[in-house]
Amino acid sequence: MLQSFDHPRLGEIILSQTRRSRRVSLSVHPSGRIRLSFPPYISLKRALAFLESKVDWVEATLQKYKNRPSTPKPNSEQIEALRLKAKSYLPARLEELSQITGLKYNKVTIRAARTKWGSCTGQNNISLSLYLMTLPKHLIDYVLLHELCHTVHHNHSPKFHALLDKILGGKEKILAKELRLYSIP
Ligand SMILES: [Zn+2]
Repeated sequence: MLQSFDHPRLGEIILSQTRRSRRVSLSVHPSGRIRLSFPPYISLKRALAFLESKVDWVEATLQKYKNRPSTPKPNSEQIEALRLKAKSYLPARLEELSQITGLKYNKVTIRAARTKWGSCTGQNNISLSLYLMTLPKHLIDYVLLHELCHTVHHNHSPKFHALLDKILGGKEKILAKELRLYSIP
């Protein structure tokens, strides 16, 4: 099920039914997309009541995104420049962080990925978006370390987060929050 409806104050709300989650959840994307997700056994009425209780929060979040300076979309020349920067910086930095932490990966590739900053396969091949080069250095490190931790835990389990948080000296939550302020241009 994927439907949407127009909310009198918030505009379009996308409704999605998720089998995996056990509760109602609401997300606001920097693009302004609002999604209300809930499992099949929770009624639409209950999900909408939840949404109503969060209207002020959604409005505040939309306002926050609006006030944020938006990153302009890079043209193909700029993308090539980012790719060169990424190729000279990211693999070397990943290797450095791998040595420091002792977390071993197999292969690293740089892609023009727009949906994710990075990913790690079951074979411990790490893929990094060249758009990482638009982030401050400490957030690049945060993403690289996140992917390196996936070489041990191939999921986002509590064990994964415990390992990452330990490596980051207890700063995982702060850095995750900071990264959410950025989106892939
Ligand atoms: Zn991850």
